[in-house]
Amino acid sequence: MTVDASIRNLRVAVIGGGPGGLATAIALSKIPNVSVNLYEQASLLREVGAGISIGANTWNVLELLGVADTLTSGHPTWTILNMNGRSGEELDRRERPRGGITRPPIRTQRTELQKALLAHVKPGVIQLSKRLARMVDKGRKGVELYFEDGTVVEADLVVGADGIRSVVRDAAWPSYEIKFTGTTIWRTLLPWDAVKDLDPRFEITGWWHTPTTHVYFSPVGEGLWEIASRAWQDPATNSASKKSWGVPVENAYVESYFTEYLPKIREALARVPSGGWREFAAFAGPELAQLTAWNNKVVLVGDSSHALSGAFGSGAGFAIEDGWILAQALAYWKNDTSKALPLFDAIRLPYYSRMYAHLAAEADRRATKLKDLGDPTFDERVRNKIITDGGKDMSWIYQNDIGAVWKEHIDRLEKDKELV
Ligand SMILES: Cc1cc2nc3c(=O)[nH]c(=O)nc-3n(C[C@H](O)[C@H](O)[C@H](O)COP(=O)(O)OP(=O)(O)OC[C@H]3O[C@@H](n4cnc5c(N)ncnc54)[C@H](O)[C@@H]3O)c2cc1C
Repeated sequence: MTVDASIRNLRVAVIGGGPGGLATAIALSKIPNVSVNLYEQASLLREVGAGISIGANTWNVLELLGVADTLTSGHPTWTILNMNGRSGEELDRRERPRGGITRPPIRTQRTELQKALLAHVKPGVIQLSKRLARMVDKGRKGVELYFEDGTVVEADLVVGADGIRSVVRDAAWPSYEIKFTGTTIWRTLLPWDAVKDLDPRFEITGWWHTPTTHVYFSPVGEGLWEIASRAWQDPATNSASKKSWGVPVENAYVESYFTEYLPKIREALARVPSGGWREFAAFAGPELAQLTAWNNKVVLVGDSSHALSGAFGSGAGFAIEDGWILAQALAYWKNDTSKALPLFDAIRLPYYSRMYAHLAAEADRRATKLKDLGDPTFDERVRNKIITDGGKDMSWIYQNDIGAVWKEHIDRLEKDKELV
């Protein structure tokens, strides 16, 4: 960190060492006069879950952070399939455009993304076994952070990168609530060699559907293959614990949700070694009116700021973009949080609003279509689930170039300044 007397000294506490926290720490460490500490509750930084998709949007921001070349493992996902899980009928096949692309979209292990980010965090920044219990607004003095081990830390700015069940958000937005969506997800990794005899299509990233469940298969590189299966049950009659995240579950229990599927899919599930499954209960919450609080002393990045429950399969990318934009905004306003945080809000809030609006419109469209179908068959319900007329152009998400977004905002800001 360089020190410049004309720039405010800023003590930043980042809570959480997921993709958002790590990216924020990397980006902030490049800014003059910022001292950054990252506090992670786990005693060891390890990702639970299985695979993660890295598309153009995530590559763009990894490039800006200087991390892209460190992420070397993964399986290219040029083709994406959607199939009927009971009949095997192919319902949708997408070929991603290859022209002008320097880094292919990939599915990789979560641990690989985490390793790549970790390699760029400066030594001494991460403090493990530090679970934030609560925090107190100390007005002009900053924020006091109380950890479960009894230690107390002061900071000028707190970055809540503590995921969908955020303690930072609970403290600064006390009335905010997340609810079980009804969806339960089970994830695992196993060797490709253990299942490759079953169907050549299993080597292509794809979803196999029934009306209320799906099974996702994808290679993730390093000879490994991922299964991420999910089932929806009406949350009015089915509940889940907020803590149910990455919990080991019995094979027979997982398999019981997928009995309607083709025998080869059931066989793939049956080949998961005992103890291999982890269960995740999906929670979601409403849109926030602001991503900053306590007079610009608290800001949320990643899942804590938009509890969408992984809806676009790109939440790690969003979290990393948040961290990068936050650092640019602070650098631009010389660490003056009263200007930098509103700038962060102005860039990221409308983006998340658009995601909420998109999901609401899609849900409406599906519900209307189902109603129009009257008494739809199994196959009609599956088709309705995956075919989207409303939202095919998703380039604003998957091709997002956060560097260009930033430039556009700053150009506008500079122009406005000239006009004053
Ligand atoms: C099933 C599923 C599939 C997904 N697939 C994809 C995908 O393919 N591509 C993609 O980009 N995204 C995907 N996502 C979304 C992605 O996982 C998240 O959006 C991403 O991990 C968010 O990063 P984050 O850093 O905001 O939060 P998290 O990854 O949740 O990290 C939060 C960190 O904060 C720590 N923490 C929490 N509370 C405290 C506390 N009180 N004190 C200290 N530390 C704390 C946690 O231990 C954790 O390390 C998926 C999500 C789900 C559920």
